[in-house]
Amino acid sequence: MKKISLIVPCYNEEQNIELFINAVDKLFKTIPYKLELITINDGSNDETLSKLLKMQETHSYIKVVDLSRNFGKESALSAGLFHVTGDAAIPIDADLQHPIELIPQMIELWLKGYEVVLAKRTSRKTDTAFQRVTAQIFYKLHNKISDIEIPADVGDFRLMDRSVVNALNELKENRRFMKGLFAWVGFKTTSILYEVSPRLHGTSKFKTWQLWNFALEGITSFSTAPLKIWTYAGVVIAGISLLYALYIIIKTLLFGSDLAGYPSILVSILFMGGIQLISIGTLGEYIGRIYMESKNRPPYIIRKTYTKEKTN
Ligand code: UDP
Ligand code: MG
Repeated sequence: MKKISLIVPCYNEEQNIELFINAVDKLFKTIPYKLELITINDGSNDETLSKLLKMQETHSYIKVVDLSRNFGKESALSAGLFHVTGDAAIPIDADLQHPIELIPQMIELWLKGYEVVLAKRTSRKTDTAFQRVTAQIFYKLHNKISDIEIPADVGDFRLMDRSVVNALNELKENRRFMKGLFAWVGFKTTSILYEVSPRLHGTSKFKTWQLWNFALEGITSFSTAPLKIWTYAGVVIAGISLLYALYIIIKTLLFGSDLAGYPSILVSILFMGGIQLISIGTLGEYIGRIYMESKNRPPYIIRKTYTKEKTN
């Protein structure tokens, strides 16, 4: 019998986790697959961990990976991927926003030979208008300037064959933009559509500023275009300045000099200053990441792993 590993990052999900596990339990009673439920407690400061451990007593397929603090969803997912023993893995949110009814359909496509089955959102109804617009801009921009294409409106909810999980586990970088890494490893992919449901309890952990940083992470992880555009910007601006200088020289030779020109000097100084600050800032974004990456710290630290079943 094939074993399916669900990977569930949990950060303060005490209100959702039991409902989630019960729903999954019910589903897997109706389909002929073995279940492994890898839950990652991402430094919750509520009752998430104790609830997970309590559920584990009656459901031996639950594994609990307890991280030493909140490392963020990307790291929690990475931790989960390392514990997969099933034939296929599905990362899924604990807040029941990802419809678990989709799982049998995903498995069917996987059995047909697809190594990755993406779940694509049909709409972004649960997002604010601002989030919808910014998400669209992000995907457009990212896919224009990066070597790999991230499919729009696809989250972490997807089925991956064991070989894909193994490939992901080989990637050494410790700043892990999972959407990008998922796309980067490739494999034979298909997708199914679904409608996101609203969060069951509690609020989203991602605020606008975090989403902005997340987008920056995505772009800097997979593209060096922001580093390179400054060369071209510099060439264009220098070219224009040169033409302007020629114009001034010719004008002075023909008509003599006048004292006007302070505004144009001020404008060009401010403009160049601005451009230089932007380009230095861009360098900083990358150097900061090189710095963090060069420390070679693990992306997460596990306090303890709780398992009941013997794994193969
Ligand atoms: N999550 C996590 N660590 C974090 C933030 C979120 O493990 O630092 C988990 C959270 O418990 C949930 C999933 O990631 O299972 C998605 O989080 P959320 O619902 O807040 O995000 P959204 O649905 O708004 O993308
Ligand atoms: Mg959610």
